[in-house]
Amino acid sequence: MKLCRFNDNRLGLVEGNAVKDVTAALDSLPAVRYPLPTYDLLVANLATLKPAIETAAKAAISVPLGDCRLLSPIANPGKIVAAPVNYKKHLDEARADPQIHHQNQVAEIQRVGLFLKATSSLVGASEGVAIRHPDRRTDHEIELAAIIGTKADRVTRERALDHVAGYCIGLDITVRGPEERSLRKSIDGYSVLGPYLVTAGDVKDPSGLDLLLSVNGETRQQANTRDLIIGIADLIVFASSFYTLMPGDVIMTGTPEGVGPIKPGDVMDASISELGTMQVKVR
Ligand code: MN
Repeated sequence: MKLCRFNDNRLGLVEGNAVKDVTAALDSLPAVRYPLPTYDLLVANLATLKPAIETAAKAAISVPLGDCRLLSPIANPGKIVAAPVNYKKHLDEARADPQIHHQNQVAEIQRVGLFLKATSSLVGASEGVAIRHPDRRTDHEIELAAIIGTKADRVTRERALDHVAGYCIGLDITVRGPEERSLRKSIDGYSVLGPYLVTAGDVKDPSGLDLLLSVNGETRQQANTRDLIIGIADLIVFASSFYTLMPGDVIMTGTPEGVGPIKPGDVMDASISELGTMQVKVR
């Protein structure tokens, strides 16, 4: 199942290049009142909502995917966990380029651990990226994003992937500089998720997906998730050994080599096999 959030918070079931408006299924979500849950209500109830989505799809009108204004498929993640330097060749390029490392020691992920991006930085493909500090180098980073489906507290490697609801393409937009990652990568709009959520059962092997990112038609990043230093299951083990992961939490698994600057007017095309393609404009 492929689910998108589009236009004015509509819920869409993506089938090929068409989107069926299944917003009516959201009526089956449990009612909430203050204080609101600190996890994503839709992701938490995805399994029980599936029949309502299928029923709604039968009567749904279909609109072309290209006509939809795509928002982040996850509306309310409690946290965005991100993996730094999780591909060997990216570690090498970061250590070799002073404009990337800025006199920071670029250590292996096993030493640096994980970091958090502010949830306020999250946008969907159609919202684009507004450059906040045009005087500073700002880079694209394409990453496989895993979305947690069920509460995960100190899970074992064997059970880790059972906690994944699905996957989507993530862009970890980054200002280069000496400050903490969480500051440089948490600017409004600097976490892009899309184009839609592909449920875990519909992804054959998340550790064998091709990633491709081009800017203005020129290929910048091309890699495969098989080259992750710490794979998806172990990232979940690692993260959940520090904090409880909740439905809707996003795990950005790290970017491969080929990071490079973007500027207003650029157009990024990002794709990951089985997860679709999204175009993101920079302004
Ligand atoms: Mn990153």
